Amino acid sequence: MRIDVFSLFPELFSGFLGESILKRALDRQLLDVRLHNPRQWTENKHGRVDDRPYGGGPGMVLSPQPIVDAVQAIRSEMEQPGPILLLSPTGRTWNQRWAEELATEPHLMMLCGRYEGFDQRILDILQPIEVSIGDYVINGGEVAAMVLIETVMRLLPGALGDEQSALQDSFSSENRILEFPQYTRPREFRGLTVPEVLLSGDHPKIDAWRRQESETRTRQRRRELLDE
Ligand code: SAM
Repeated sequence: MRIDVFSLFPELFSGFLGESILKRALDRQLLDVRLHNPRQWTENKHGRVDDRPYGGGPGMVLSPQPIVDAVQAIRSEMEQPGPILLLSPTGRTWNQRWAEELATEPHLMMLCGRYEGFDQRILDILQPIEVSIGDYVINGGEVAAMVLIETVMRLLPGALGDEQSALQDSFSSENRILEFPQYTRPREFRGLTVPEVLLSGDHPKIDAWRRQESETRTRQRRRELLDE
């Protein structure tokens, strides 16, 4: 999968892409993330990419020209450009089911906003899909794009060490409920012991216990998932 990310602060991605599972996926060419700074496309003689909002009010709004030109330039290089995802608190809320759908796409584009967000004509022209990571506001779309990248890359075949890992995750397509409690060594810590069933080696019994714990946890914390 190739992901083109448009950000005024592309350097924010360097640590993120350079570590752990994500780095391994990039090294193994399961994923190709390309960063673009719309500032490179600006026609403003002072290099500006934003301006004050018409109608007044605080902050700055991202100007249409650099972003529309940047996205169209990259799209024109591609035979089959994929969906454009524009990060915004006004978008549809991201979830695992949506990530599963997008993980089958060979190409995605992600537009990261800053300041007060995007000039509406960027949306009118590029017709992106607006994606929110939740009902709160962060400073920029970069962290939100990182959330999308990680969710999708975990679902790419071969990206995780063990394929079962993504299947047993909370919300996964296997069950759509919360994961069961996990334990590791030691068997006893500060008087708290690991449930006996997990030490039994009886895998049907362990599976039944985990299923039961997942359902109990989901009923207590996220009842609506069971109803769905
Ligand atoms: N004025 C905007 C509003 O109230 O909807 C918020 C702008 S926010 C400070 C700047 C940028 O951060 C947004 O353009 C968007 O790209 C990103 N952002 C902030 N919160 C987000 C969220 N919940 N989901 C996705 N992106 C978000």
